[in-house]
Amino acid sequence: TEILDIEKIRADFPILDQSINGKKLVYFDNAATTQKPTAVIEAIAHYYNFDNANIHRGIHTLAERATRDFEASREAVRDFLGASSTEEIIFTSGTTQGINLVASTFGRKFIKEGDEIIVSGMEHHSNIVPWQMLCEEKGAILKVIPVTDLGELDLDAYEKLLSEKVKLVTLNHVSNSLGTINPVKQIIAMAHEYGAKVLIDGAQATSHFKIDVQDLDADFYAFSAHKLYGPTGMGALYGKKDLLNAMPPYMGGGEMIKEVSFEKTTYNELPYKFEAGTPNIADVVALKTALAYSDSLGRENIAAYEDMLLAYATEKLSEIQGLRIIGQAEKKVSVVSFVIDGIHHQDIGVLLDNQGIAVRTGHHCTQPLMKRFNLLGTSRASFAVYNTTEEIDRLVAGLHRVRKMLL
Ligand code: PMP
Repeated sequence: TEILDIEKIRADFPILDQSINGKKLVYFDNAATTQKPTAVIEAIAHYYNFDNANIHRGIHTLAERATRDFEASREAVRDFLGASSTEEIIFTSGTTQGINLVASTFGRKFIKEGDEIIVSGMEHHSNIVPWQMLCEEKGAILKVIPVTDLGELDLDAYEKLLSEKVKLVTLNHVSNSLGTINPVKQIIAMAHEYGAKVLIDGAQATSHFKIDVQDLDADFYAFSAHKLYGPTGMGALYGKKDLLNAMPPYMGGGEMIKEVSFEKTTYNELPYKFEAGTPNIADVVALKTALAYSDSLGRENIAAYEDMLLAYATEKLSEIQGLRIIGQAEKKVSVVSFVIDGIHHQDIGVLLDNQGIAVRTGHHCTQPLMKRFNLLGTSRASFAVYNTTEEIDRLVAGLHRVRKMLL
């Protein structure tokens, strides 16, 4: 943790240098979205200032430049995920679209009446609802891996759910509400023994540690750029080539076709088959800059620093009377969800904001998980590489004030 110069890193994020309600901003809502370094903001501006053109079809210089940078970003994502080919990298509007793409196309082709889909009990709504919609349409059955009191998945129960009827297992690598790191490599291997495919929702994982889709043997892996210092409204889906080739297209339109006539249309090759229409070129280009930014800090360094923040916050928050941390898994990223006896999470959020401290409160788009813990919501502090122990001290002091005001 000595390796990273946090003051220097903070200077890369201009948004952090401001006051909220007369207090220096403490931004602890990183699991919702991280802030963007100047390099990323400038990459977007540079694209529009110098290179903007539609991609792939143009032969003029700007179109060539835009295409080159767009495809360079695909190569950067391939490298980032450890995929073997850029054909396996599909740009999306984010994790949500990646999951919906798989539900719509893999689902349309391979899920039949009576088939089973397994999700985990700690999924974001975006990895529940698309499967419910598919199951309803197909007459398939949704099964759920239960969550233990510590906020880990019950793997014995998972094993019992597996059978030849299961066609897909889909779960998050890291829980956005609890911070739990799920043992996805093992979960994938177990599913594969029954011939089921596995989709990993990597929305909360990619900013915290190195991903290697080949080592995990994931069939699909979805993530969002905005959770790892990149722009909002874009992300990528990795899929194994054979599977992607076997799946029908997602949206119909330009770019995804080879030849169109009113009699018959043939589809483009991977990955373009799944990329209809003019994409979010500027933000795709800027994602490469975001990946380069975290790479320049070193992913291991980021992970080690965030682990230190997590340990510090867990210790300091635990000392607050009546505070209970929800999610005490052995393996966690830097997310602390908590409740305080007798105080509504909404009040905590408002009173912390009054002191310039941004946390997320509510169900975090995981209502079934909240129900599992008999809660309507929690307060969640989630840390990124630019956060500090001094800021955690501010949170702790802020919560003492909240208790004094309300109890
Ligand atoms: N899954 C998880 C675990 C998430 O945390 C989020 C974002 N909160 C999503 C999926 C959805 O990501 P997006 O809104 O960027 O599509």
